[in-house]
Amino acid sequence: MSQEVEVTAIDEQPRKEKTNLLGLSASRLGDFLESLGEKRFRGTQILKWIHQLGVVDINEMTNISKGLRATLADVAEVVLPEVVSCQDSVDGTRKWLIRVDGGSCIEMVYIPERERGTLCVSSQIGCALDCSFCATGKQGFNRDLTTAEIIGQLWIAAKSFNQFDPQVDRRVTNVVMMGMGEPLMNFDNVVDAMNLMLDDNAYGLSKRRVTLSTAGVVPQLDKLGDVTDVSLAISLHAPNDELRNKLVPINRKYSLQEFIDSARRYLDKMPDNRRKVTVEYTLMDRVNDRDEHAQELSVLLRDLPCKINLIPFNPFPGTEYKRVTNVALNRFRDILHNDGYTVTVRTTRGDDIAAACGQLAGEVNDRTKRQERYKKRLDEEQVVKIVG
Ligand code: SF4
Repeated sequence: MSQEVEVTAIDEQPRKEKTNLLGLSASRLGDFLESLGEKRFRGTQILKWIHQLGVVDINEMTNISKGLRATLADVAEVVLPEVVSCQDSVDGTRKWLIRVDGGSCIEMVYIPERERGTLCVSSQIGCALDCSFCATGKQGFNRDLTTAEIIGQLWIAAKSFNQFDPQVDRRVTNVVMMGMGEPLMNFDNVVDAMNLMLDDNAYGLSKRRVTLSTAGVVPQLDKLGDVTDVSLAISLHAPNDELRNKLVPINRKYSLQEFIDSARRYLDKMPDNRRKVTVEYTLMDRVNDRDEHAQELSVLLRDLPCKINLIPFNPFPGTEYKRVTNVALNRFRDILHNDGYTVTVRTTRGDDIAAACGQLAGEVNDRTKRQERYKKRLDEEQVVKIVG
């Protein structure tokens, strides 16, 4: 009598997901190695291979024993986000479109200047905060980036500039968390990625050369000072709550004064009392660029050690806002300057490849339906224009 036996083919066994070593900070890498019965210090060797030498094949990490390499290859891997395209602006700015899993793409920008090269890194696919003047906000939101997807952006830029070759000068000297997304809404992954940026066994950037920019997620900003001392930029864009409620909706939850007080507390936690916050203020024609706005801003910031960065608005398709005029920009700057503030004006870079500040859009599989609503509104406006 024959008997039917149920057989599960080997390749039908569910495959165990491997750990992506790219996104593990030194302490997490140590924990991971301990969980494999290995010594924590091996983590330092692995960090150097990945982040200083650009090696992603575990078998090429030759100062690690063959046995450990074999164990690692079974349970771990190094997986980078995929570069879809890379565009160079006439002014030397470079923009990458990077695919993260799920089909969405994020954007990352490199801005070379005379004495430094700044990489503007994304922290989320889209952004949930929906600031009215921001192209990213109009794309809606999909999800937070993982630590590997955040640090992977720096890896990709370093590779692209051949920076893993010790003979080659470092082109990326500064990183700003100012790309797509609100970094403090993705707190743990952003902090882990910044720890890798600062780690001498990884990218070794100084805390002054890594900047986190926030639109005002006050509870997370209060937590941030307990775990890091990177530079802080606060995106204000308005000098009073009434106007800021319209431009930056999170202001309805955490007011301007609460935001500024929180930034002050962040500075107070720094061991070095000479640190300053950078105040970002995007100037839009006849929206927030009047003399009274500058005067109000000056009073508002009186007790905050800060410098002010004025950003002429960079238009994107469908936006209702216009770039500030040069006359208004200069008046605004002079009022603040005469009140004793250090004021810089951000020069527009990468405009020809839509890489300028506030223009990053990527390709977001939007889960909020905001993108759909925005496109519908643009279509309706177009119809009105044509009919009108
Ligand atoms: S300005 Fe920043 S916080 Fe606001 S929608 Fe854009 S990415 Fe998000």
